[in-house]
Amino acid sequence: MLASKLYSPTLREIPAEAEIASHQYMLKAGMIRKNGGGLYSFLPLGRRVVLKVENIVREEMNATGAQEIMMPIMQPAEIWHESGRWDAYGPEMFKLEDRHDNHYCLGPTHEELITTLVRNELRSYKQMPVTLWQMQNKYRDEIRPRFGLMRSREFVMKDAYSFDIDEEGLHQSYQTMYDAYDRVFTRCGLTYKPVEADSGQIGGSHTHEFMALAAAGEAEVVSCSACEYAADIEKAEPQTLEMPAEPAQPVELIATPNCATIEDLAKFMNIPVEKTIKAVAFDIDGKVVLCMVRGDHEVNDVAVQNLVGGNQVNPATEEQLKAHGLQPGYMSPMDADAPDNKSFYVIVDPTAMNVPNGVTGANKHGYHYTNVNPKRDFKQVTIATIRLMKDGDVCPHCGAPIEIMRGIEVGQVFELGTKYSESLNGTFLDKDGKAKPYYMGCYGIGVTRTVAAAIEQFHDDHGIMWPVAIAPYEAVVVPVSSKDEDQIRIATAIYDSLGGVRGDVVLDDRKERAGVKFNDADLIGYPVRVTVGKKSAADHTVEIKVRRTGAEEVVDIDAAAARVKEILNELLSNNM
Ligand code: ATP
Ligand code: MG
Repeated sequence: MLASKLYSPTLREIPAEAEIASHQYMLKAGMIRKNGGGLYSFLPLGRRVVLKVENIVREEMNATGAQEIMMPIMQPAEIWHESGRWDAYGPEMFKLEDRHDNHYCLGPTHEELITTLVRNELRSYKQMPVTLWQMQNKYRDEIRPRFGLMRSREFVMKDAYSFDIDEEGLHQSYQTMYDAYDRVFTRCGLTYKPVEADSGQIGGSHTHEFMALAAAGEAEVVSCSACEYAADIEKAEPQTLEMPAEPAQPVELIATPNCATIEDLAKFMNIPVEKTIKAVAFDIDGKVVLCMVRGDHEVNDVAVQNLVGGNQVNPATEEQLKAHGLQPGYMSPMDADAPDNKSFYVIVDPTAMNVPNGVTGANKHGYHYTNVNPKRDFKQVTIATIRLMKDGDVCPHCGAPIEIMRGIEVGQVFELGTKYSESLNGTFLDKDGKAKPYYMGCYGIGVTRTVAAAIEQFHDDHGIMWPVAIAPYEAVVVPVSSKDEDQIRIATAIYDSLGGVRGDVVLDDRKERAGVKFNDADLIGYPVRVTVGKKSAADHTVEIKVRRTGAEEVVDIDAAAARVKEILNELLSNNM
C-alpha cells in the first residue's frame, strides 16, 4: 500500500472523552471513527487489524473441528420468552418491532437462537459432540459505553456453542475451547490470564474468563503469588478475619456531625477503620438488600445477587430505605425493620460480625452507635461472605498472599449444562432410546475488544507497538527525502521485494518531512521500519528499526527485504 493512497485521516486533537491509550491512538491514527454512543466505523487500518484477529480466531476454531455458521443478528422475541430471558436480560437488550407488531431483539448473544436452530435436527447421540460457531456483530445497550472499542454497543464477537450427550463430553468440549483460547490470545501476542469466574445471569456453573492484564482494565483479578489459583475478584472468596477479643461494652448513641465518609467517621471517633461497620443497600428486582461489611472492606454485589437471586441490581432509593427504617448515610440493622428475607434482607459479612465494640449507623441523621457487637446486637440477619478480596488477603487454596491486578475480559468459556436445552426443549435420543437434553457449552471472544487490549498492553508515548500477528501492516519503508530520486528508487525496490501492493507493507511515498513520516510510523505502530536516507545510495545500505524493542541495524540494500522477513518471523515466533 502506498501511504499517499491510504485512507487514514490522522487527528491532531484527540477528543477529551478518549481517556485511554487504545481509544486515543485508534482515533488519532485514523483507525476508527465514532458514529454515535458506542458505535464505531473501522477505517482501513483498523479494519485490517480486526480481520487479522478474526483470522487467528477462525484458524484456531476450525483447528478444533468446530464448524463456522452464521445466524441472524435479529432474533424473534418468542425464543427469548421461551427461555425466560426476554425480561431477565434487562435493559441491555436492544428491542425492536416490525410493521406487523412482531417483536425482535438485536442479538446480545445467541444461546436461544442456536438451541432452537438445532433442536429439530440434532436428534441423535450419533450426531454429537458438535460445536458450531460464528463471527458476528453483537448489540448491547451498555449503561456506560466507553473506552472506545473496549465497551461499545455494537462489537464483533466470536461465539461458539457445543452440544454433548453428557457432562463428561461437555467437560471435554469445554477443555478443547479453553485450549483454543489459549492459542488465540498467545498468537495475538497478549499477556493474559485465564481466571475462574462467576457465571452471572447466563446460567451454568463452570466458567473461566480470559483476562488481558492492563491498568485500563475494568475488571479486577485475584492471583495467588504461590500456586496456580486465579479468579475474577467477584468470584474469589475471601477468608473470615478474626479480631482481638474485647469485653463487650454497652451500646452508646454518639453525635457524629460532618462524617460523610467512613474515613471521616473513624477519624472523628479516633478509631481504626477496621472498628467501623459500613452499610451498602441495593434494590434487586424491587427487594431492598442492606449489606454490612467491615469499614475497610467493599461489598461484592455479585455475591449478594447470587444469594438473593434476581436480575437487576441497582442502588436502593431513599424512599425504599426509609420504608424499612433505614436512614441514608447512617444505615445499619440497628433500630431498623427486622428482615423478612422476602422484600427486605440484611446480609452481614462474617468478618463484620467479628468486629468488637464497633461503630455503625444509628438510622438517625447525624448519629452513630458505638460499642456495637454484631453477634449480640444485629438481630435476625443473614451471615454470608459478601466482601471483596483486597491486598493483604490470602489464597483460598494455599494460604499464600494474593496479588490483585486489573484485567480486560477478552473472552469467556462457560459450561451451561442443560439450562437452555431444558427450557427450550433441545433433546436427543440417547443410546438407550431415551430422550435427553443436550449438555451445552458457550464460548465468546471479544474480537474488537481484543484489538483495544493489545494496544493497552503495547504502546508508548509515540503510539502503538502492535504484535506482528495483528499489525495493520507488518512493515513500512520510509524514504527520508521525498525529493531524492535515489532514495525513492531504493525504497520502491525494497517495497516491491516485500510484496508491493499485494504485500503486508506500506511505502511512505508522501511529500512530507521526514519527522512527520517517522511520527506517523510510530503512531500507527508498524512493527518494522526500513529507512532509506542520505547515505543509502553511496553506502548501499538502509536502516532497519524494530518498533517494539527499538533495536536498529544497518544492512546492505540487497539483503534488506530478506532481513525484514527474518526479523518479522523472529518476532512472530516469540508472539511479539
Ligand atoms: P463484560 O463483563 O465486560 O460486560 P460480558 O461478560 O458481559 O462482558 P460475555 O457475555 O462474556 O461479556 O461476552 C463475550 C465477550 O464479548 C467478552 O468476554 C468481551 O470480550 C466481549 N464483550 C462483551 N461486551 C462487550 C462490549 N460492550 N464491547 C466490546 N466487547 C464486549
Ligand atoms: Mg463475560
